[in-house]
Amino acid sequence: MTSISVIGAGLAGSEAAWQIAQRGVKVKLYEMRPELGTPAHETGDFAELVCSNSLGSRLESTAGGLLKKELAVLGSLLMEVAEQTSVPAGGALAVDRRLFAQMVTRCLYEHPLIEIVREECRELPEGIVVIATGPLSSPAMTGILQELTASDNLYFYDAAAPIVTGESIDYEQGFWAARYGRGTADYFNCPLTKEEYQGFWQALVTAEQAPLHSSELTDDALAVFEGCLPLEVMAKRGEDALRYGPFRPVGLVDKDGRRPYAVLQLRKENTEATLFNLVGCQTRLKWGEQKRVFQLIPALRNCEFVRYGVMHRNTFINSPQVLNSSFQFREYPRLFLAGQITGVEGYVESTASGLLAGLNAVRVLQGQQPLVLPQETILGSLAQYISSADPGFFQPMNANFGILPPLDPPVRGKQERKLAYTQRSTVALEDYWAAL
Ligand SMILES: Cc1cc2nc3c(=O)[nH]c(=O)nc-3n(C[C@H](O)[C@H](O)[C@H](O)COP(=O)(O)OP(=O)(O)OC[C@H]3O[C@@H](n4cnc5c(N)ncnc54)[C@H](O)[C@@H]3O)c2cc1C
Repeated sequence: MTSISVIGAGLAGSEAAWQIAQRGVKVKLYEMRPELGTPAHETGDFAELVCSNSLGSRLESTAGGLLKKELAVLGSLLMEVAEQTSVPAGGALAVDRRLFAQMVTRCLYEHPLIEIVREECRELPEGIVVIATGPLSSPAMTGILQELTASDNLYFYDAAAPIVTGESIDYEQGFWAARYGRGTADYFNCPLTKEEYQGFWQALVTAEQAPLHSSELTDDALAVFEGCLPLEVMAKRGEDALRYGPFRPVGLVDKDGRRPYAVLQLRKENTEATLFNLVGCQTRLKWGEQKRVFQLIPALRNCEFVRYGVMHRNTFINSPQVLNSSFQFREYPRLFLAGQITGVEGYVESTASGLLAGLNAVRVLQGQQPLVLPQETILGSLAQYISSADPGFFQPMNANFGILPPLDPPVRGKQERKLAYTQRSTVALEDYWAAL
């Protein structure tokens, strides 16, 4: 067998397929959309971003920024396309989601070693396979994963934020600014007075939620995924919960130089700034209720929704029980798993795991040992985490400095410590990569 199969052309699968093909190995890339959709994807494009259009911080002093840097060193296709399709977003890397997905799709279609198969994969192909079917894997693939992992419970849930049109925003009722003036003023900020905030909060906590077609969802299940906690669930923790969360006003001053009582930030969804994401407002309220509640915010009084917030299934396996740090099944060395379903959390993390799984699939095909990246790197530590965390308490993990080994000797000062982590990772990865 001289080719490798990749199932799922999402973030992880697209990156994996590219890495494999770039090393001169043929790839068969399966994608079931558009024939068979998922509850969150809207197009048939590869690498579609299903919720926010932000890939997180690009500052190297953050763990997310450092992971992006590592991916650039490793030659990531998706990070390169993200830079080419980026939209202004202060210190964050946000993209025009349509252009981003279209460009990734084109790169993969045009690669001479990649064969695209537009169908749902219902059984595992022969030979070496990278499974990257994501948190919304088709039922057939979920069944296969249940068999491979000897588990019948792979689910939890998370939520997506609404998107409104730019032309329906009342720009007189807010101001453009970046928090603490960091980066360019790319966010449109919708301030609320104390009375407006209290009215909004009251409406939010009493609004009706959409029914769920599952008994598995509890607030506890949601709480494990703090980054995507529905706004109404967070609001129920107390009247000020949002003012310390997505509606926090710190670092923002309005046109009169005053700090508002609370602020909702809107982030551009596309280069033309015709669409805006309500930052941090993922929700599972009924659609009519979303309109009623969010229109209580002065700048959104007449806003037009192009997408309402929704609640989705999210699947991940108990990786420490079954995977090793090369994203390879311990029991089935010909099979690799990549993406969110492994328990890495987030767009960039999913991409990164796809990159490593792709590289390792090629190495196994060529009879070489899989790569074990230095522990000092974010990707190396993520790989280590998914393969060696305590299986009894395993939860998805995003890039953060806490997963890295401690600095030796310890460094005092938060900023200095972050810088030291970044420098250590950069040196370790560049040395490792050069030695290969
Ligand atoms: C609703 C929702 C919102 C999210 N929001 C964010 C966010 O804002 N920011 C963030 O960083 N992360 C977010 N995530 C988490 C995660 O980053 C994304 O889900 C990301 O897309 C995961 O990448 P992936 O490659 O693992 O899966 P995906 O990008 O979902 O790719 C999987 C692909 O496999 C295909 N597929 C599935 N089954 C089959 C099959 N049997 N045969 C062939 N093809 C198949 C699917 O169609 C899909 O294209 C969100 C997740 C969900 C579910």
